[in-house]
Amino acid sequence: MHRKYMQGDFESCPNISCDRQNTLPVGLSDVWGKSTVKIYCPRCKKNFHPKSDTQLDGAMFGPSFPDIFFSLLPNLRSPLDDPRT
Ligand SMILES: [Zn+2]
Repeated sequence: MHRKYMQGDFESCPNISCDRQNTLPVGLSDVWGKSTVKIYCPRCKKNFHPKSDTQLDGAMFGPSFPDIFFSLLPNLRSPLDDPRT
C-alpha cells in the first residue's frame, strides 16, 4: 500500500488547492454492501468519489484505513499536519 500510495495509484485529490495530492482508499462503513470505495485526501482530509468507476466495496478498507496507514508511516503525513510547523 505504501508503494501504491507513493506512485499515486489511488488517484490524486480533485481539490485544486491540494496540488494533486496522492490519496488513499477508504470506506465509509465497515458493513459490507453499504457503499463503494472512496478516496481520502490527507491534505484537505476529505473523501471523494473516485474518477474511475470502481465497484470495490468500501468495507474492504473501512473508515479507519487512512488513520492506520499514517500512524504506521507518520513521515508521509501532510506537512500541514506537522505540529512543529
Ligand atoms: Zn485534498
